[in-house]
Amino acid sequence: MTDHDHDHDHDHDHDHDGHDHYATPRSRRPRSEFELRTMALEAALTERGLVSTDSIDSFVDHLEHQMGPHHGARAVARAWVDPSFKQRLLADGTAALAELGIAGAEGDNIRVLENTSDIHHLVVCTLCSCYPWPVLGAPPIWYKSFAYRSRAVAEPRAVMREFGLEIDPDVAVKVWDSSAEVRYLVLPERPQGTEDLDEAALAALVTRDSMIGVGLALPAPSA
Ligand code: FE
Repeated sequence: MTDHDHDHDHDHDHDHDGHDHYATPRSRRPRSEFELRTMALEAALTERGLVSTDSIDSFVDHLEHQMGPHHGARAVARAWVDPSFKQRLLADGTAALAELGIAGAEGDNIRVLENTSDIHHLVVCTLCSCYPWPVLGAPPIWYKSFAYRSRAVAEPRAVMREFGLEIDPDVAVKVWDSSAEVRYLVLPERPQGTEDLDEAALAALVTRDSMIGVGLALPAPSA
């Protein structure tokens, strides 16, 4: 696993209404080292005219709206209702996702892992934060934490338990280490009792966490 990405951490507080990217409720707590460094870097780049705050705004907007877990959820729901799509998704994730118009940076090679009643997949990037951006958006803070990166491998069941997910001892757990070359998307199991739901309703059950493996798809809504 060479050529690992270390350049995609964007801990970027954001305010759409103005140019203070940091004027969010999060700014009421002390800044983290990363936030301070990011602010200093942004200030230095904008002062020199190397980037504009508008371009940063549009990049963050792109991350938040053009990429994101709703795309992954759409692909999962399609796989649940369309067996031939599911087959293609598992055989070549990147190509099958492109059929749905899902593609982009940090997603050149996406491999899809199917959870079943026998095996549960969990995804981590032990070195940094490699993540399938086109289907999940930017990685959550915890995904980049040292604790998650180390413990997901050493004690995956304990980590999942902390997310509220208890995996039956009879179910095998397999941990996958993402890299810049291969990024993983978990195809969660379709919840029981969802036979009557259409694709959009199914997609609404697919959480980000279920596509990382630290959660399951939500249960069917009660009628
Ligand atoms: Fe990484």
